[in-house]
Amino acid sequence: MPIYEYEPVNPHKTCKKCKGRFEIIQGIDEEPLTNCPWCGERVKKVISWCRAAIIETSGEHTQVTRKISEYEKEGMWSHAAELADTHSEKIGNHDMKMRALDNYKKAGYDAGTLEKHAKAKEDG
Ligand SMILES: [Zn+2]
Repeated sequence: MPIYEYEPVNPHKTCKKCKGRFEIIQGIDEEPLTNCPWCGERVKKVISWCRAAIIETSGEHTQVTRKISEYEKEGMWSHAAELADTHSEKIGNHDMKMRALDNYKKAGYDAGTLEKHAKAKEDG
């Protein structure tokens, strides 16, 4: 059964249970809650798919992040960039993408070079 996260619509009108956020187990075909089951004040569903995604890949994520840090420490910028780039695509993480671009720069690439590189690939 999936766990859904809710938060109060009006943070000043809550009970102890729905103050801040609360989680509730619901069947997949159950209607989403519109009111707190305990006090009846309005609540709304929090989209929490990113959290689930991060939990799923957290082990791998830690490993990859560590590897990137190692490359960075050794000044292997292009290795770090490629790894961060691939990983950012996989997990859809913007910070990781920025880290990749940063490492590409340090590796001596600039935006122009990257474009040329892409073009050369197309032509070839
Ligand atoms: Zn409540």
